[in-house]
Amino acid sequence: MTKKILILPGDGIGPEIVAEARKLLQALRAGGLDIALEEGLIGGAAYDAKGHPLPDETLAQAQQADAILLGAVGGPQYESLERPLRPEQGLLGLRAGLKLFSNLRPAILYPQLAGASTLKPEVVAGLDIMIVRELTGGIYFGQPRGVRELDNGEKEGFNTLVYRESEIERIGRSAFEITRLRGRRLCSVDKANVLEVTELWRQTMIRLAADYPDVELSHMYVDNAAMQLVREPKQFDVMVTTNMFGDILSDAAAMLTGSIGMLPSASLDAAGKGMYEPIHGSAPDIAGQGVANPLATLLSVAMMLRYSLDQAAAAAAVETAVGRVLDQGLRTRDIAAPGEATVGTVEMGDAVVAALGA
Ligand code: NAD
Repeated sequence: MTKKILILPGDGIGPEIVAEARKLLQALRAGGLDIALEEGLIGGAAYDAKGHPLPDETLAQAQQADAILLGAVGGPQYESLERPLRPEQGLLGLRAGLKLFSNLRPAILYPQLAGASTLKPEVVAGLDIMIVRELTGGIYFGQPRGVRELDNGEKEGFNTLVYRESEIERIGRSAFEITRLRGRRLCSVDKANVLEVTELWRQTMIRLAADYPDVELSHMYVDNAAMQLVREPKQFDVMVTTNMFGDILSDAAAMLTGSIGMLPSASLDAAGKGMYEPIHGSAPDIAGQGVANPLATLLSVAMMLRYSLDQAAAAAAVETAVGRVLDQGLRTRDIAAPGEATVGTVEMGDAVVAALGA
């Protein structure tokens, strides 16, 4: 059956990088992939056209799609808008409206770019980690929350870390399934020695492991996980963790690679429907110049093929094509070594499409 893909270019460099992804999807369609492409408005672009960063039509389109590809949202011209009308509310609204609770953040370092990391090349070359972060629960959403005044007049801030067993099971199953598509080693990150919530987290992961005998489950406290990520990151295959721990660890892991223009991400629901986007923002400083790196967006398409469209071979072909263009020495400005020749957004996109057929 034809899979529907909704493309949301957004703001800043969004339209430029998404144009390259569209070209890639069209090439895959010409090669036999059964997909239909649709476009919609989000973020500042949607505010300009419709007065809201997530128009009802866009949410309806997203609900009907099998997968969504997003460029980026935001820009300085929207920063003075009241909060509910700001571009990022479009993103948050989509995540909530589609119940995208499983956030996949890979940290992949192509060996050709190992020099870009702040860590020694031998520690990070060939790095390929996936962090699965719970996205809709935990301390960022728990009630009660606030700042109150105590009897003695002192102020006290408080938040609540709460996870139901069903929420843990949901993210756990998502992580086990994803691990099955990779190296079959899953590390669950918690703070079970201090936090009761994550004791339940650990027990739940252990219970689930019985259903996935082909996956090796291990556990690590979050402080040790942070240390191991910078000490010996290649020991990890997939890590699964709570919303807040995942927020922090996934940014640290991303920075191991040193190149924000290379990293894709996905947010999935329980049925595997997903929204795919580069981890970087709308880069207003380079928007319209044709110099943005489209590879994070093209690798987001690869993730979409793997996790929502059940097309693992096509996903691997896209990733291989990206490796080939890096081997050919093509570099956008952000990943070029000092003095190295650079190519623009369109040239990089064209090269990946050409390498796909090679
Ligand atoms: P940013 O990621 O947009 O840019 C940070 C730096 O990285 C900039 O120097 C930029 O030029 C560079 N960069 C980013 N992507 C690049 C690419 N593909 N190729 C080459 N260089 C690239 O972060 P920021 O500057 O903090 O934020 C700019 C805007 O983006 C803000 O409005 C912010 O709210 C928004 N934002 C959106 C998202 C999203 O849509 N998911 C995420 C983060 C920030």
